Amino acid sequence: MSEAESSNPPLAPWLQTQLESLLAQRGHAWLLSGPSGLGQFELALALARAWLCEEATPQGACGHCGSCHAVDVHTHADLCMLMPETLSLALGWPLDEKTQDELDAKKRKPSKEIKVDAAREAVSFTQFTRSRGDTKVVLVFPAERMNNVTANTLLKTLEEPPGAVKFILATEAAHQLLPTIRSRCLGHTMVWPDFELALGWLQQEITNAAEGGAPKKAAAAPKPADLQTLLVAAGGRPADALMWAQNTPAGEAAQHWQSLPKAMARGDVSALSDWAPSEAVDALQKLCHDVMAVRMGAAPRFFSAADLPAQPPAAAGKGGGGLYALAAWAKELATTARTVEHPYNPGLMLESLVSRARLALNAK
Ligand SMILES: [Zn+2]
Repeated sequence: MSEAESSNPPLAPWLQTQLESLLAQRGHAWLLSGPSGLGQFELALALARAWLCEEATPQGACGHCGSCHAVDVHTHADLCMLMPETLSLALGWPLDEKTQDELDAKKRKPSKEIKVDAAREAVSFTQFTRSRGDTKVVLVFPAERMNNVTANTLLKTLEEPPGAVKFILATEAAHQLLPTIRSRCLGHTMVWPDFELALGWLQQEITNAAEGGAPKKAAAAPKPADLQTLLVAAGGRPADALMWAQNTPAGEAAQHWQSLPKAMARGDVSALSDWAPSEAVDALQKLCHDVMAVRMGAAPRFFSAADLPAQPPAAAGKGGGGLYALAAWAKELATTARTVEHPYNPGLMLESLVSRARLALNAK
């Protein structure tokens, strides 16, 4: 079963270190927090797998016992995955029967939030489901997708879990969680990997994926320089860079990224046409950040300075240097980013984003 194999690659080295440190501590509820792309979900699942494993070591789960196998094929009776339905479907975790029936019958769309019904199921899982071993685990991801009602449903169980129930909450936005949820968990802040280590891991993952079958895009091995471009573009978040390189050959993706700033200054909409609106807004926010940084004499963070559009000549010495226009653009992008999930017309939205970018980048 390919799903099982793909769900169980070795942990990235910086996650392995964190796993060992978490396993060495006592705690029935952990909150793993940090920005996206650092591997919260992978770490949370590895921790759950180790807690449930029949022959766990201080390094983690054994990987070959019945319990590990059940986790790997997503059927462990003592593991409750509390996730938005969209994510359960995307990652291949089973939904409860009633939900699956409703979705199959197209009665409604899968929810992007963690539903209160699912939280109630999780509570009843902790109380009634008979376990195969001593431990039961509830994994909640992304925890910020619980609204207040859902979170409150979970609260009491989180505070006084029955028997040997353990919780792992993983979040990409800890500030959006109820303080009462945060205070009932031990906190673990995700560790940023060293850049070189992340780069080496990225290279390895892509090479493994290419060797492991999937002959859909049997491209040549990615160049380190291209992977470096992608990792910088992803703000140093390796999982984000990997996802990108898995969807587009690294060389192509890197070239696309490098040509983006000047394409935006020209108003070239085609440069964004392959991206979802949220990805486009994210890229423009990075571009806006870097152009502002460079015009204020700082180093860019996501692009290489050579790829950024030149400052419009008349702006030099005029004081503002287009900074007011850039600041206004940054503000607009931040607003757009909050509503971008449901654009009323994606094509039109991209056009307007690009035309706005061209104006800001050429403002004097
Ligand atoms: Zn095991």
